[in-house]
Amino acid sequence: MEIREIGEFGLIDRLKENTICTPELVDVGIGDDCAVVRHRPGTVQLLTTDMLVENVHFTLLTTTPQELGYKAIAVNISDIAAMGGTPRHALLSIALPSALPVEFVVALYEGMKEICREFGVNIVGGDTVSSPGGLVINVAVTGDAPPEAVILRSGARPGDVVAVSGPLGDSAAGLELLLAGRESVPGGEVLKERHRKPRPRADIGARLASAGVTSMNDISDGLSSELQEIASPSGVDIIVASERIPFSPELQAAAEWMDRDLLHYALYGGEDFQLLFTLPEDRVEAVEAAIGAKIHIIGVVESGTGRNRLRLGDGTCVELRARGYNHFHKDVDK
Ligand code: ADP
Ligand code: MG
Repeated sequence: MEIREIGEFGLIDRLKENTICTPELVDVGIGDDCAVVRHRPGTVQLLTTDMLVENVHFTLLTTTPQELGYKAIAVNISDIAAMGGTPRHALLSIALPSALPVEFVVALYEGMKEICREFGVNIVGGDTVSSPGGLVINVAVTGDAPPEAVILRSGARPGDVVAVSGPLGDSAAGLELLLAGRESVPGGEVLKERHRKPRPRADIGARLASAGVTSMNDISDGLSSELQEIASPSGVDIIVASERIPFSPELQAAAEWMDRDLLHYALYGGEDFQLLFTLPEDRVEAVEAAIGAKIHIIGVVESGTGRNRLRLGDGTCVELRARGYNHFHKDVDK
């Protein structure tokens, strides 16, 4: 069935079931002019939004509608986690080619509802319009945090150590395998899954924040550019040791098989959605206790002017350039 047959309101009716996970925070969800939500006393609000355009941010050749829905929300939840917040509510706006089947949109929302349930996020509204071109999805997510536990990118201090919450590069390698249609690569299916269904680290963002990290960023564009996004506003240099960067066993196996450089995936690949953060060295144990897991210390913060370096295995240092994906200048230095 095509959307034009049931219309905007028929479609919203199909989508609005099972959208509220924390009813105590929602007075009014989908159905009125505005949503009405409760504010948790003693917290500040975090607001974030991201737009995904077909054939710019995703292609329907490598992703199913469920995966697309999951990922569209994952990127926003990741931003809330990177501030030290807890995600709460989502507004979902979609521009749909009118020939799109209703089942596609229902499947898109299944993916959205799956991740919202996983992280306790309520879908409280949105907008639905038709698109003469491709599919466009805009997601806005709110979160909250105690005001003293909001973590900015600008808080890194000389003497801090630099850490990441988990292995890097999997998603970029998974995308490469998907685009090349490569099957039977060791570890390949796990890597593809990490690209299709990235799990934002909202499980630990708030705990890292209250345990004393000094700056934080989520890794959406590759380590190199995320390091720059901390070093520049903090007015420091960051030195990373290449052998300290954590890689999954699956990526190590796949990279060896394909004769590829692991570092390239971690530095310049995107969408791992692990957290990158700095902290005083004497807080490492407390932070690990707070999240119940080891963190991966990859480098140190020095006084400087935002010029980051990578120390290679042989002891030589190379300058790290922020070379992530930039929408107007692909693959050039920012
Ligand atoms: P209005 O004309 O007041 O903007 P709409 O007719 O656009 O209202 O939407 C009706 C209700 O459905 C509102 O609560 C709105 O937030 C919600 N809504 C519309 N589109 C979507 C969507 N794609 N996902 C979730 N909620 C939606
Ligand atoms: Mg509207």
